[in-house]
Amino acid sequence: MQITERQHEILEIVKENQPITSESIAMHLNLSRSALRNDLSLLSMMGLLEAKTNVGYFYKEMPISTDLKELLLDIEVEGIMSVPVVMDEKASISDGIVSMFIEDVGTLFVVSDGHLAGVVSRKDLLKSMVGNIDAGATPLGMIMTRMPNIVYIYPEESIYIAATKLIRHEIDSLPVIKKTIIDGQEQLKILGRISKTTITKIFVELADGQLGG
Ligand code: ADP
Repeated sequence: MQITERQHEILEIVKENQPITSESIAMHLNLSRSALRNDLSLLSMMGLLEAKTNVGYFYKEMPISTDLKELLLDIEVEGIMSVPVVMDEKASISDGIVSMFIEDVGTLFVVSDGHLAGVVSRKDLLKSMVGNIDAGATPLGMIMTRMPNIVYIYPEESIYIAATKLIRHEIDSLPVIKKTIIDGQEQLKILGRISKTTITKIFVELADGQLGG
């Protein structure tokens, strides 16, 4: 629902002066209390203002955030994940660097026998080059962050959970995985990738009304 210019003004006054009585709001606007009654009850109904008896009106911070969170909880990783760039653990650091440039990604997922074994980031590659290392002969398996320390996500989880994991673990990218049991052993198959860029794209699409309701 759109709010009118006057309702917008009321919100600004309450924000600045809360708690504030309806008389005072009316005075700010040079109006009578009765002229404001409808606007105040509408804004309260919309959850933008809260009236406390004998105290006055309060502005309610970001009431849309509940909706936004619900929206983010509704968007599944599967629908927005991108293609993962996957390298074998035996591939060299040089191969890793070349792939990062060619595929234009900041994170490589590393597999052993086709299953998730580790992650290599830009800084992992930079760090590895500081020492006296033969980048053409040293495998990615030597420098990767390895299982079981890899943070991952399932396709049916929400983008909200994905974003929370990226922030909490201070990482740029998450492998989207499916668990399989092979020879009695749990293995992780890589299905996709969620990166900070994915989240930023969704953010813009949401703002442009291309996603959600
Ligand atoms: P950069 O190192 O280029 O800043 P990141 O912030 O993604 O990129 O990586 C920081 C460290 O976390 C690196 O050592 C990397 O191997 C590791 N890392 C990256 N992604 C993950 C992940 N999904 N799970 C566990 N560790 C990760």
